[in-house]
Amino acid sequence: MALKYTNKINKIRTFALSLVFIGILVMYIGIFFRQSVILMTITMLLGFLFVIGSTVVYFWIGMLSTRTIQVVCPSCGGATKMLGRVDACMHCSEPLTLDKSLEGKEFDETYNRKSKSKQ
Ligand SMILES: [Zn+2]
Repeated sequence: MALKYTNKINKIRTFALSLVFIGILVMYIGIFFRQSVILMTITMLLGFLFVIGSTVVYFWIGMLSTRTIQVVCPSCGGATKMLGRVDACMHCSEPLTLDKSLEGKEFDETYNRKSKSKQ
């Protein structure tokens, strides 16, 4: 598996940002339906919902951020936020772990789920 791992916080942030753009795009499409008030209202509302959804996701990131651990990446020397036991560096996508027993092992997202069931 040659998957490129990305930092979880970054991943969610990208998702929230794309939601805003989708929302704006949907509202923009709504302008073309000026002849029909109902159709325009639906697209405007739909676009508005996407923007609201992104706000919720941003709020969720804020909640998650309180649970992250700030570490200094050994690969690039930059400060990065870690979510869970294993995560990738925000800057260079270097796989990082907080668990000494997992050091040197192949990066696996499932380690996070295992730690959750233990708690
Ligand atoms: Zn790094």
